[in-house]
Amino acid sequence: MAIRLHRSPVLPSEGFLHGFPERTGGVSTGPRASLNLGVSWGDDRAVVEANRRRLAEHAGFELDALQIARHVHGTDVWAVGEPLAADAQFDGLVCDRAGAVLAAFAADCIPILFAEPDARVCGAAHAGWRGTVAGIARNVVARMAALGARPDRICVALGPSIGPCCFEVGPEVVAAFRDALGDVPGLVVAGPRRDHIDLRVATRSVLERAGVAPEHIDTAPPCTRCEPERFFSYRRDGKDGGIHMAYIGMV
Ligand SMILES: [Zn+2]
Repeated sequence: MAIRLHRSPVLPSEGFLHGFPERTGGVSTGPRASLNLGVSWGDDRAVVEANRRRLAEHAGFELDALQIARHVHGTDVWAVGEPLAADAQFDGLVCDRAGAVLAAFAADCIPILFAEPDARVCGAAHAGWRGTVAGIARNVVARMAALGARPDRICVALGPSIGPCCFEVGPEVVAAFRDALGDVPGLVVAGPRRDHIDLRVATRSVLERAGVAPEHIDTAPPCTRCEPERFFSYRRDGKDGGIHMAYIGMV
């Protein structure tokens, strides 16, 4: 099967390249079949490298342009060009130059891509529930602004991730969201057993408070857990499964 990319209409098609690859078109086998793009859950590095090479060829970027950070469910953001320690850990990346492609890994967490077409600045983030509560998306907007972006011109696309249909959580997680964001309509959804959290609603709230225009935010990606043919899902498959990698860069 070929590589398939989920793409967002809010991100500019000219001057930028971006994609949220689905799981097909790679060479990993078993529950990681087939386009597993992450190494942290134990897939063979050579196989993941082959998958990344396939993606780069398909998407039209050089593999060595890819900027990869180890994610830790934190809120630190790295700007391409800043000195970087070998063991650096970031959940967000920003860039104001062509030739770099930013990567955001996720398997149920939200990969978020950012672009400001006038200032020509882009960003990428990995946001699980902890990073969402702590404000990783807000930090990316702030770092983009420091590079000349205007928040009200930043376009933001949320990638395939666990939807409110599937993100059942305990009361402590609901409390953490309410403490951080207050009473946001649609944030907490009553489920059959316990409450569910809508991470997209939470992220939208964080972004709007950071000055991003509501119409510049795409919060309608598919649910990873609901579509096993298209997506990996940590909730569904655990660490036996694969990891997605969204990407964005400027051309
Ligand atoms: Zn779902």
